[in-house]
Order: sequence, then structure tokens, then C-alpha cells
Amino acid sequence: MAVQLDPQLLEILACPSEDHAPLTPAGDQLVCTACGRRYPVVDGIPVLLLDEALSPEDTPAPETTLPSENPGNAG
Ligand SMILES: [Zn+2]
Repeated sequence: MAVQLDPQLLEILACPSEDHAPLTPAGDQLVCTACGRRYPVVDGIPVLLLDEALSPEDTPAPETTLPSENPGNAG
């Protein structure tokens, strides 16, 4: 489900960080165009809090579970 926010609302929204950059909707979150922080949207209301923001470097990447030591691997 993608976030549906008013374009006018997006125009006035800004990153609470020092950059105060505009935000762009991505999925169910708002992503800062400068620092890349991601802010969740709860009940259609963007939570623009640095404490609630997800840093692009701190986001848990969907890692695929690699098979443990596989014998017979010639290389
Ligand atoms: Zn920012």
C-alpha cells in the first residue's frame, strides 16, 4: 500500500534534520531527498521525528540466508 498524501502537504513537509530537505513518498514511508532518512506514516500522518526516522545505513537489509558450509565446493 502506497502512501496517499496531498501534494500540497508534501510541499510543506520537510525533513526535521538540519538539511530541511523536501520529502518524497516511497512505499509507506517518506524519504528525505537529502539525507535519505525514512519516516514512517501512521494513519496517513507522517511522523517526522528524528527519533523515529530510519537511517538509510541503519535499515535492516533483507539478507538471504546463505547455506552453511557446503562440502564439495571445488574452487
Ligand atoms: Zn534529511
